[in-house]
Amino acid sequence: MAVGGAGRVVPPSGGPGPELRVLTYHRFGDGHRAPFTVSAAQFEREVAYLAASGRAVSLADVEAFVAGKRQLPSGSVLVTFDDGDPSVRTVAVPILQKYAVPSVAYILAGRPTGFDLMSFSQIREIQAAGVSIGSHTVSHRSLGSLSRAEAMAELVDSRRRLEDEMGTAVHSFAYPFGTAKDMTPQVIDCVGEAGYTTGFSSLHGAIRADTARQPYALPRVKVESGDPQWLFPALCAGAMDRWRLVDDMLTNLQKPAESQLQKTAA
Ligand SMILES: [Zn+2]
Repeated sequence: MAVGGAGRVVPPSGGPGPELRVLTYHRFGDGHRAPFTVSAAQFEREVAYLAASGRAVSLADVEAFVAGKRQLPSGSVLVTFDDGDPSVRTVAVPILQKYAVPSVAYILAGRPTGFDLMSFSQIREIQAAGVSIGSHTVSHRSLGSLSRAEAMAELVDSRRRLEDEMGTAVHSFAYPFGTAKDMTPQVIDCVGEAGYTTGFSSLHGAIRADTARQPYALPRVKVESGDPQWLFPALCAGAMDRWRLVDDMLTNLQKPAESQLQKTAA
């Protein structure tokens, strides 16, 4: 899908050339059980904003930009989901269809414990509804903690399994956890070798023509539940980009921080 709304091109917010942002969501619901569970009302507000402002682009658009084959308006935004939670199908997809906003679901090809995941037939349903499918490994282990052979197996086996189940090529990848230590230089090499063309991290920031030269360490921007209404347009315009520096510094602290967060939420 092409960028909608001609004449709604967003001016650059600084730096050389256009900036794109890729948003990360995980699951949807009204329980506010965790920062990664976004309410249907919040998601609809955000998707409606993307549609009305003409920012929404598809994975194919971003891949073409990263490959240097297409220019996109600065401020373009791609919606992504990690893991494959059932609420992507039941909550998010009807909203995306209503506003004709494209998206990508990075799917766990295995069934690791601790995850509630869509069945493959449900994943085929969301694909038929217009969601692009990418890989999020088999087992959701940090690739940085594995041997080269194990990391290659996670990358290759998940891609083959998803291609078999979906009947289409899978060439985009999102790292479990996605901090710097989950994508060491060795891991980044493996992503290319396993046949992917893009790899998305959890490091915050915008994709520019210069960052696109590292197609296997692309930044994203997390969207969390309970974000105040004014924050989303600011976030799409780069207000959270500076958190990339914090991500880099706090990489070693991120995991203890996450488990502590879960304890507080439980
Ligand atoms: Zn994940």
